[in-house]
Amino acid sequence: MTSTLTPAGEFERAREEYAALKALRLRLDLTRGKPSPEQLDLSDGLLALPGKRRHAADGTDVRNYGGLAGLTELREIFAELLQVPVPQLIAAGNSSLELMHDCLVHALLGVLPGASSRWVDQGTVKFLCPVPGYDRHFALCERFGIEMLPVPMDAGGPDMDAVERLAATDPAVKGIWCVPRYSNPSGVTYAPPTVARLAAMPTAAPDFRIFWDNAYAVHHLTDRPAELADLLAACAASGHPDRALVFGSTSKITAAGSGVAFFGASPANVAWLLGHSAKRSIGPDKVNQLRHALLLRDAEGVRAHMERQRALLRPKFDAVQRCLRDGLGGTGLATWSDPDGGYFVTLEVPDGCAKEVVRRAADAGIALTPAGATHPYGDDPRDAVIRIAPSYPSLPELEQALRGLAVCVRLVGYGHRPPHTRERT
Ligand code: PMP
Repeated sequence: MTSTLTPAGEFERAREEYAALKALRLRLDLTRGKPSPEQLDLSDGLLALPGKRRHAADGTDVRNYGGLAGLTELREIFAELLQVPVPQLIAAGNSSLELMHDCLVHALLGVLPGASSRWVDQGTVKFLCPVPGYDRHFALCERFGIEMLPVPMDAGGPDMDAVERLAATDPAVKGIWCVPRYSNPSGVTYAPPTVARLAAMPTAAPDFRIFWDNAYAVHHLTDRPAELADLLAACAASGHPDRALVFGSTSKITAAGSGVAFFGASPANVAWLLGHSAKRSIGPDKVNQLRHALLLRDAEGVRAHMERQRALLRPKFDAVQRCLRDGLGGTGLATWSDPDGGYFVTLEVPDGCAKEVVRRAADAGIALTPAGATHPYGDDPRDAVIRIAPSYPSLPELEQALRGLAVCVRLVGYGHRPPHTRERT
C-alpha cells in the first residue's frame, strides 16, 4: 500500500478506518485450523460406508473387539504417505494428539526402549520447542510439567546448531516437537540436511525422542511438494532406530472429528506403545477404519482427494496474500509467510504490537488465535507473531476479516512508535 500521507496522517486515517470497521459489527473467526463445511462435504461418502460390509480384507469382523494395531488395508494406504513400513505403522483412534499425549504419559510412567528408568523418576524433563510452534504441543508439556526450551525456526526447520548443543549437553532434554511438513504455523518444511542432523546428532539422554508430528504430510497447496526426508529410515541408518515417533491423521483429509490417527516407529517402540495401549483399550474403531479404506482406496486415492481439498483451500490462501498485500504492503509494518501447504499463515508485526493487534481485532469482532500462543507458556518475547487460520470462513468472510486485520495492524503499528524509527520486522 503506497500513500502520500504524512505519518500522522496515516495514523489518523487508520483510526477512521478502525471506527468504520467497528461500526460493521462483524463476527468473524480466524482462530483455529478447522476444515470448512465444503471441505468436510468432500468426505460425505463416509456417512454411507461401510455399507453392508462387515469384514476387513483379512476376514476381521470390524464390529467386534480386537485388532489393536488397526486394519492392515488402511495401514497399507498410509504407509507410503507417512514414510513408515506397514508392520511399523499403527492405525488408532480419531486423534493423533491423543497418541502424542499417550506417548508422553507412557514415557513418564513406563520405561521407554533404551531408557534405564521412567521419566518421572529422572527429575526434570525438558523438551525442545521450535518456535513459532503448535500451541497444543506446548499445552501437553505444561500439563505434564515438562520444561520447554524454545529453539528458533529458520527456512529449513529448527536452528540445528542450537538443537544439537542442547540435546548433546543436557540429559534432561528428552525430546523435540517437530511438525516437519508445512509446519504449524510457519509453513516451513524441514530440509533434508535438517532431517539428517536430527537423526544423527548425539544426545545426552539415551531415551531421547523426536515427536515427528506429520499432521500436514499430504496437504500441499502447489504442484511441487518440497521433499521431506524419511526420518525413521535416517534414524535407523544412524544407529538410533528408536529415536523417531511418527504421528499423523486424516483429521484434515476426511473428517476432523471422525478421522483415523496413525503412529509409526521402530518395532521396539511399536511393541512398547501397543503393550501400554492394550491396558487402555480393547481395540480401535475398525468400522471407521474400514470406511476410510473404502473411501480412499489407496495412496493415489488420498492424493486425488487432497487435490480436491486444495481446490477449496488455494483460493483462501491466495486471498490472504492479496488482502495482506493490499492492506499492509509497502507500510513496513508487517511481513507474512506464503506457505506451500498446511493450514496457516504467520503474520509478523512490529515488536510489542501482536497482543494489541489481536485485542483491537477482537473489539472489532474478528477473533484471532491469542498472540503468544505460538510460543511456549504463551510468551512470545518479541510480541510480534500472529497466526492466521484461513480454512474455515467463507471466502467473502475471510476477505472481510483480513481487510479488518490489516486496519488493526496499521492502527497499532502507526500508533506504536515514531514512523522514522520503523523497520521491517
Ligand atoms: N498436530 C498439528 C501440528 C496440528 O496442527 C493438529 C490440528 N490442528 C493436530 C496435530 C491435531 O491432530 P488430530 O486431529 O489428529 O488430533
